[in-house]
Amino acid sequence: MSKKPPKKEEVAPAPSETQKTEEKKEVKPQKVEKVRKEKKKRQEKGAHALYKIEGDKAARLRPTCERCGTGYFMGDHNDRYTCGHCGFTRYKRAEK
Ligand SMILES: [Zn+2]
Repeated sequence: MSKKPPKKEEVAPAPSETQKTEEKKEVKPQKVEKVRKEKKKRQEKGAHALYKIEGDKAARLRPTCERCGTGYFMGDHNDRYTCGHCGFTRYKRAEK
């Protein structure tokens, strides 16, 4: 036993009340708060969101990728479906 780790002396002084007030002065003035919409929390969608159970069958709510095959769902966009795996895009038919 030759070496001993040097003991660290706790030197951090507890801030007194006068120091606290000084710290407050240093705080930058807060920017004028803009009217911000609350961040929408993205709902975590699991795989269950892609299926709809009808009776004892599971119906797929999204088309599957033609390239990647079943198991790769395509993202539902406004006018198209896209595959996040290969980038395949299929445009929806204009329904009229
Ligand atoms: Zn794909």
